[in-house]
Amino acid sequence: MRKPAATAPSAAAEPRRRDTSASRTAKFAAETRLGLVRRARRMNRTLTLAFPDAHCELDFTNPLELAVATILSAQCTDVQVNMTTPALFARYRDARGYAEADRTELEEYIRPTGFYRNKASSLIGLGQALLERHDGVLPGNLDELVKLPGIGRKTANVILGNAFDVPGITVDTHFGRLVRRWGWTTEEDPVKVEHIVGELIERKEWTMLSHRVIFHGRRVCHARKPACGACLLAKDCPSFGTGPTDPVAAAALVKGPEAEHLLELVGR
Ligand code: SF4
Repeated sequence: MRKPAATAPSAAAEPRRRDTSASRTAKFAAETRLGLVRRARRMNRTLTLAFPDAHCELDFTNPLELAVATILSAQCTDVQVNMTTPALFARYRDARGYAEADRTELEEYIRPTGFYRNKASSLIGLGQALLERHDGVLPGNLDELVKLPGIGRKTANVILGNAFDVPGITVDTHFGRLVRRWGWTTEEDPVKVEHIVGELIERKEWTMLSHRVIFHGRRVCHARKPACGACLLAKDCPSFGTGPTDPVAAAALVKGPEAEHLLELVGR
């Protein structure tokens, strides 16, 4: 993995000693709108240091492949999808391939990703809709994408951001959990979260922000036991202490190929 050129902000993870739990709570409770915008953008910059290579973790070579991989990723890990798609993409090369697919054969290709019957219906429907309405080509705008079978707003934003370079915020389970922990919003509804975060963070940053937040959620800020004591965002996070704050215990919770780099950044 590429190492960042930036200097590691050593001990950045640990809130200052005088920054007690009560004073932290009061500090975040008194935060102004401008303070929130500044903190959110600062956290995005910190995440850039943490994950300079953040990217879409699904493998694809064109917009249709990304759409198919994203549909398959529902209730399935990206790793499993990436193990499934090489053979699938070799067998079904374009919208017509999916539109005219033999359902039983297609289901066998995608069975390892789970919910394969529903997913096969989505892929066949997607191929047919693309042929009927878009000459077999995936459209590059949100309004048209969300009208296609199997493509909701989250999937559409993944496709726009990663296949068309149109900035998009992807509110998946990690993204929603983290921005609520950070006090960026209290909303649970993904569309509301998307709009609220879109008003905090510069538009050009939306796609990369999504990747960085999802990377952080998968590697550090886990749902059940976040690695607070080894987290580069600790001083800006109102939820510091949700997980272990002991540096050694927290370090053991950091996952992924970037673990060593992340622990270096927090001076462990
Ligand atoms: S909850 Fe803990 S791990 Fe998650 S961002 Fe806050 S300090 Fe970091």
